[in-house]
Amino acid sequence: MLKPKILIVEDEINISNFISATLNANNYMSEIAKNGKQAEVMISASVPDLILLDLGLPDMDGTEIIKSVRAWSNVPIIVVSARGLEQEKVEALDLGADDYITKPFGTSELLARIRTALRHSSSKGRTADNKIIVKDLQIDFDKRIITLKGNIIHLTQIEYKIITLLGENLGKVLTYDYILKNVWGPYANSDNQILRVNMANIRRKLEENPAEPVYILTEVGVGYRMVEL
Ligand code: CA
Repeated sequence: MLKPKILIVEDEINISNFISATLNANNYMSEIAKNGKQAEVMISASVPDLILLDLGLPDMDGTEIIKSVRAWSNVPIIVVSARGLEQEKVEALDLGADDYITKPFGTSELLARIRTALRHSSSKGRTADNKIIVKDLQIDFDKRIITLKGNIIHLTQIEYKIITLLGENLGKVLTYDYILKNVWGPYANSDNQILRVNMANIRRKLEENPAEPVYILTEVGVGYRMVEL
C-alpha cells in the first residue's frame, strides 16, 4: 500500500509542522516547502499526489504556483487562505485550485478536505467504491493497490503513477510528453527512454504476453492508452 505524498507549501513553521505531523500520523507522506521557489523546484522534481498551498508566501503569490502547475498537471491543489480573503479564494479556484481551507482549521477538517480532493482528482469511470476495473485488472484508489486476478501487483511509485494516470483517463490516449510531465515533472527529460523502460517493466507485471499487451496499448509515435471495457 503506497502512501499518498502531500507537499505542504507554507512559510509559517508552526503551521507547516502541525500539518506535517497530522499527515504523517494519518498515513500520508509529507514534504514542506517554505517559499514559492522551493515549492516549484520540489513539484517539478517529483510530482506530489496533492499540494496544500498557502497563498501568502514571502517570495511570490501562491496563485503563481497554481498557474504554473496547471499548465502541465491536474494534481489536486487545496489552497490555504486567511479568513476574510474570499476574493483570493475565488481567484485561486478560477485558476484551477480544487478546494480551499480557511485558517485556523482543525485536524478533522483538513483530513476531510484532503480525502475528498484525492478522491475527486479524477473519478471518471470508477465504481462506487472508487475502483477502476478493466478485465482482470483492478485499481483500488482508496487502498492504493493494483491487483490482477485478485493478486496484488508489486509496483514502484513511478509504475503506480503511470498506471493510475492511464486508468484515470481510461480509453484516452495520453502523449509521452503528458505522461512524462505528470509523473516526473515539467523538466522531465523529453526523450521517452525512461518511460519506455518503465512501461516494459509494467507490462512484464501486468500482461500475460508483454509483446501483445491487452491492458495498456502503444499508440505508435503518440503515447499510451489503457483499454476501456
Ligand atoms: Ca503565509
